[in-house]
Amino acid sequence: MGYVEGLKCRECGREYAVEPIYVCEFCFGPLEVVYDYKRIKKVLKRKTIEKRKMNLWRYKELLPIDGEPQVGLDSGYTPLLKADNLAKHLGVRALYIKDDTVVHPTLSFKDRVVAVALTKAKEFGFDTVACASTGNLAHSVAAHGAKAGFNRFIFIPATLEQSKITASIVYEPNLIAVDGSYDDVNRLCSEIANKYKWAFVNINIRPFYAEGSKTQGFEIIEQLGWTAPDNVVVPCASGSLLTKVWKAFKEFKELGLIKELPTKLFAAQATGCSPISTAIKQGTDVIRPVKPDTVAKSLAIGNPADGYYATRAVAESGGYAEDVSDQEIIDAIKLLAKTEGIFAETAGGVTLACTMKLIEAGKIKKDETTVICITGNGLKTQEALSGNTIEVHHIKPSLASFEDVLKKIG
Ligand SMILES: *Cc1c(COP(=O)(O)O)cnc(C)c1O
Ligand SMILES: [Zn+2]
Repeated sequence: MGYVEGLKCRECGREYAVEPIYVCEFCFGPLEVVYDYKRIKKVLKRKTIEKRKMNLWRYKELLPIDGEPQVGLDSGYTPLLKADNLAKHLGVRALYIKDDTVVHPTLSFKDRVVAVALTKAKEFGFDTVACASTGNLAHSVAAHGAKAGFNRFIFIPATLEQSKITASIVYEPNLIAVDGSYDDVNRLCSEIANKYKWAFVNINIRPFYAEGSKTQGFEIIEQLGWTAPDNVVVPCASGSLLTKVWKAFKEFKELGLIKELPTKLFAAQATGCSPISTAIKQGTDVIRPVKPDTVAKSLAIGNPADGYYATRAVAESGGYAEDVSDQEIIDAIKLLAKTEGIFAETAGGVTLACTMKLIEAGKIKKDETTVICITGNGLKTQEALSGNTIEVHHIKPSLASFEDVLKKIG
């Protein structure tokens, strides 16, 4: 049996039983999963975790399921790479990349949240799962939902990258492309979720879904030898991942799995959709919704559900935020590829470019340990690079033709 005590309103503290609900009936605050940490502390030791399979379920006591994991048994436990080439380029002592571009079946960190959401949907007895997606969630729900035997309704903005549409449609879900922004899609889905008894992973299952993001934080700490880094830079769409990385760190501290928690959290956004970073830079927790206009479509949420909580987590940790232009995003994708051999999607470009600005501004100190979260694979957003790569060398199939080119290369 699990270790969940119930759900609790993040605003007024009212408690609820475990059900597919997500807002407080009294104050409309979001609901949060509450655990029995006393019981977890007795069973969850470093050694217990270390003996388990290398997937995200190795922290299952801190995930909101009652029975055994049913979805995403090969997701999670992605590499934490020491990025020495990039560190040297940026003039910092210790830089790590949490590399969620690999290992996950659908090549983004969304496999973490979907593994938890779909396992919970099974426990609740749903036969249909759905989501409102900026791209990666569509891909992940389509794939994991197919394997788990769910009917699937996937809602996306019609302007999504073609590679993400192809990546989702191959699993043959009901893919619904909506004429509008992600925020329009999300609003429509809230209406649909009220009418149809489906498990909308990021709407009525959201309190459970969001907990899956904690596994990225747990892994960072375990992979650093059970220590928390000085800085973590996290890309923000709804702000949920950042909020949950912070929750993960605090849980490990509470459980005595780490001694110190010196970590500062930094939010990374594209300037073309920066409601969270703008609020943080202006020193407020009031999120002003925006109309997104950026190549970083996976982060293009103009009215972020967890934006307020992300600003709070950043403030509590003593961190900050940055945002970057489309050109800076593309340049950072190329820099990461050239220095570390990692091809990240646009969200990864956002994270690295923001990290560079934060280092330049002295917000991230050069002698500290920094982890940057690279959350999705570049093969999923190839369109963003068109017209922005170096030339291919075209030759005839002859040695002479090759050597002509070789001379030019010098
Ligand atoms: C969804 C997503 C994020 C962050 O999402 P949140 O809504 O802030 O949790 C980051 N990177 C990628 C690639 C994503 O798809
Ligand atoms: Zn409430």
